[in-house]
This record gives sequence, C-alpha cells and structure tokens, in this order.
Amino acid sequence: MRWEEIQGQERAVRLLRSALERGQAHHAYLLAGPEGTGKELLARTFAQAANCEEAEPAARPCGACPNCTFFARGNFPDAAWLMPQSERVARGLLSRSEVEGAPSKEIRVDEIRELSRRLSLAALRGRRKIAALVPAEAMNERAQNTLLKTLEEPPPATTFLLISANPDALLPTIRSRCARVQLGPVPEAAIAARLLREGIRPDEARERAAQAQGSFARALAEQGNRREVIEAVESALAASDERAALEVAEVYGERDDALRTALAVQAWTRDLLVGGELMELRELRPLAEEISQRTAAPALLGQAALCAEVIEALEQNGNGRLQLERLLLASRELRRG
Ligand SMILES: [Zn+2]
Repeated sequence: MRWEEIQGQERAVRLLRSALERGQAHHAYLLAGPEGTGKELLARTFAQAANCEEAEPAARPCGACPNCTFFARGNFPDAAWLMPQSERVARGLLSRSEVEGAPSKEIRVDEIRELSRRLSLAALRGRRKIAALVPAEAMNERAQNTLLKTLEEPPPATTFLLISANPDALLPTIRSRCARVQLGPVPEAAIAARLLREGIRPDEARERAAQAQGSFARALAEQGNRREVIEAVESALAASDERAALEVAEVYGERDDALRTALAVQAWTRDLLVGGELMELRELRPLAEEISQRTAAPALLGQAALCAEVIEALEQNGNGRLQLERLLLASRELRRG
C-alpha cells in the first residue's frame, strides 16, 4: 500500500500523512465519507505508515521492511480491525457455520472492552497501536459509551480510526473526541482510470464512472454483477435441461434486474461475435474465446436479435421473468442448432 494509490482523496491523504511525518498523529480520527470512497484503504495505509521501519518518514510506508511485510500478509500484531460478525461473514473472514443464529450487525460492548484491554498492553513490534472500527456506527450505544472512556484517557502511542459513512449515527461525545477527516466523492476521472486498469473499454469506463456517484465500490460492484450474470447465463445455456435457465430468469426476474441482465447479455453477445476481441471484462475473455469457437455465427446473430427484442419489451414494461425466460430458452435452442 502506498499513499499514492489512494486516488481522488488528496486532502485527506495530505492531512494524515503530514500528521505522521511531523510525529503528531492524533489519538483518534473519524474517517467520514460516502461508501466506496477509500476510507478503509486510507486507514490501512495510515496504520502501515505509522509502523513502517523506513528511516525517512516521507518514504513510509516503504512496502519492504518487516513491519510492512506483516501488513501485506494482513497479520501485523499491533493493529486491530474490529467489525461486526455480519461484516466478517460478508468478507469471508468468518464462516457462516461458526455463527449461531443470524450474524450480529453490531459491535458490542464486550468487544470494545476486550479491545481496550489489549490496547493497554505494550505494542509487540510496532511504534503505534492501531484500532480501527469498521464501521464505527455499528457500535451500539453501550459500546460507544465504553469506547468513550478509552478515548478520554487514551493509551499511549495508540490511534483509533473510526470509519463511517454515517457519522451522524455516532454519539456527539464520540465525534467531538475525534479529529475528523472528511472524504468526498471520488472524481469521475479517478474511477474511470481504475476501470481502465481492470480491462474495461474506454467509452464504457467513462460511462460507468459517470454513473458511479463518486463511489469505487459502486463502479466495481456493477462490474462484479455483470460477470456474475454472464457466468450464470452461460452455464444455463450449456446445461443439459432447461431448469438452470428458468432459475436464472427467476433470480434476475425483477424488471430492472431483468433489463440490466438483458443489456449485459447483449453486450456480451456482441463481444462473442467478434471473438472476444473487445472483451470488457478481462476475466471473461477465456470463456468468450471458447464459446466463440464452438458456436456458429448465425446462432449468435439470432441471440443478438433476441436481446434487442427482449430489451424493447422490457422497456415497455414487459414482465421481467417471462422476458428473460424467452431470451434464455430461445438462445438455448439457437445454441443447440
Ligand atoms: Zn516499511
């Protein structure tokens, strides 16, 4: 991780970076800003820079020293990332089967107590202990009140990083104990540049960046969704019976979903017709090449025509599930020749 990798948040980077370089890091920061604007990346870079062993402060984090290596592996011992069970399950850090009942969406008071206890001990190998709360508003009121006591008498050489897209949900007393670092929406150009690096065509990247509302997460989730949709559709088209196709139509059958699905299949079919040459999603390129080779052009042309019909029907309020069924079942027939 390097400060330079955090794009579109120059002011926030400058603030945290210069605090560390001057040796004047605050004991608590509230990193506030919309979802998907880089708050957590900023927190991780801060934590690493605060503990990097490079002699020259301006060159931290160096990415090469032992402490930086711990960060790269995600096991630096003096940094705690506290998040609710639901978040750990969503990130694959905790198996769903290890949780009894529904995963908790709260950071609870016993977790804050345990964190405070650990922070009262000496650092194992770092200069500065880091405790990040992701997201801070997941703390219930009791947890916040307990944290408040720690913030009032912070342990030495410790920085709390409260990450929040909804800082107003925090107690005012918590907010007033933190130095606020405000992140704004990411500029479109920075999002487009990121999408280009992901292998997306320039015109498509510009268009999606414009729709991402300043959020990397939104732009990338859209891409993840498209990949998921295409993979589901292709496996349904290749299946031996129609069940998978009907399932896909049901899963994506809500009208807006159905329209997005049909548009994704249309773009994909266009790519298949040119043999994967213009593939917007790098990860799907091998699949595109394989399908282009084993599928006759007339079948793909037929599929493209079907997409256009279905999109038109959906734009005129057609039933999402039925239109997707039509698209998938007819495309299956075309593929089978
Ligand atoms: Zn380093």
